[in-house]
Amino acid sequence: MTVNIQRLNASDADFDSALSALLAWDDSVDHQVNESVRHILHEVKTRGDAAVLEFTAKFDRLSVGSVAELEMSQERLQHALKTIPQDQRDALEHAARRVRDYHQRQSQESWQYEEADGTVLGQKITPLDRAGLYVPGGKAAYPSSVLMNAIPAKVAGVAEVIMVVPTPDGVVNDLVLAAAAIAGVDRVFTIGGAQAVAALAYGTDTVPAVDKIVGPGNIFVAAAKREVFGTVGIDMIAGPSEILVICDGQTHPDWIAMDLFSQAEHDEQAQSILISPSAEFLDAVEASIERLLPTMERAEIIRTSLADRAALIQVADLAEAAKVSNRIAPEHLELSVADPQALLADIRHAGAIFMGRYTAEALGDYCAGPNHVLPTSGTARFSSPLGVYDFQKRSSIIGFSAEGASRMGRVASVLARGEGLTAHARSAEYRIQRD
Ligand code: NAD
Repeated sequence: MTVNIQRLNASDADFDSALSALLAWDDSVDHQVNESVRHILHEVKTRGDAAVLEFTAKFDRLSVGSVAELEMSQERLQHALKTIPQDQRDALEHAARRVRDYHQRQSQESWQYEEADGTVLGQKITPLDRAGLYVPGGKAAYPSSVLMNAIPAKVAGVAEVIMVVPTPDGVVNDLVLAAAAIAGVDRVFTIGGAQAVAALAYGTDTVPAVDKIVGPGNIFVAAAKREVFGTVGIDMIAGPSEILVICDGQTHPDWIAMDLFSQAEHDEQAQSILISPSAEFLDAVEASIERLLPTMERAEIIRTSLADRAALIQVADLAEAAKVSNRIAPEHLELSVADPQALLADIRHAGAIFMGRYTAEALGDYCAGPNHVLPTSGTARFSSPLGVYDFQKRSSIIGFSAEGASRMGRVASVLARGEGLTAHARSAEYRIQRD
């Protein structure tokens, strides 16, 4: 059964509208999901632990007497770390070292400067007191997500990182706990869904309230994060995964086919796009896709994703490829070309840019070092990968000398009186030196 991936040509008259249709993504959450999430949030906000226990019994089929019983001790995390297979432990530790090294370079420093009259201005950087990390656990386990979300928080200096992860039927995933141990997560509760987001946002007798909630999750988790935003900060609401490959036609077509699969296997709505100036190369990749697809474990998910949302786009040259890519603003962008540095200059919008034929996007998912939590659905136009800066905030520092207060007091007074704010004006005027 052929996949029939959509073909577009940037020189076609209707290319713009075809591209818009390809990228159209409805992120509105179904009314019923919103209703049930609002109910769960309200119950947890008003009844705390008791509601968390009820929803955990209902949705995760896990009944216990208290939320405290759902907390995994540090000894339990260390036990998981000791008992997972050695190669898994080595790989997690290796990945964690690289993620930590990379993120340490993102730390921001406080700064101040002094003006001639002794006035001091600056910016003070302070880590969040407490961050909440949602780790999905409904259908699969994601130890790499634990590293990618918890390590930047720790590098930022967050005092307490609280992780929640559902354990349907009470089945605990030791790789996830081991990753939490390696990343230095402070407390872990085996709760999930909207009830876990609510517990982190509002706090219960057992689960402490946090300042910001990060991490991916299903539709209930995403809807809950949207609702609690404002009470706490959130990282983002992630859409389906995306990959865009720009290839000059000289990479092995099997490599490119597999790179497209690597996002398509995430879910049916994931989007994989290949752009090339060579029509023959697009044909070759399509042939590779047909040949390799039956060998994939998640062939059906890949097939649906490619048939519904993928595209092979022909362009005149690499400069036009960059223009089309900038319009898409992809989450992951592979520059599978001879001189990726030259093409990089033309790229304006992308979550992460993978340079050259050897840089498979999959390496970035696990162990390259940069974060794999990236802006999706075109939001790379205005947002950035999750990083240390998401766990630090800035306070402005303003310190006037007597001379500075006198000089700037006159300016403030004029502006305040112009706005009709007399207290502002007089407060500034008191400090004006008149001699
Ligand atoms: P999850 O932890 O997000 O959701 C499981 C929870 O959903 C359960 O604990 C339950 O409380 C709640 N739930 C289930 N059915 C419900 C219902 N009918 N009413 C109310 N609540 C209900 O785990 P998941 O379901 O496996 O989803 C994980 C998601 O995270 C996937 O969509 C996956 O693609 C995504 N993900 C994204 C990234 C990324 O980096 N973008 C990484 C990993 C996972």
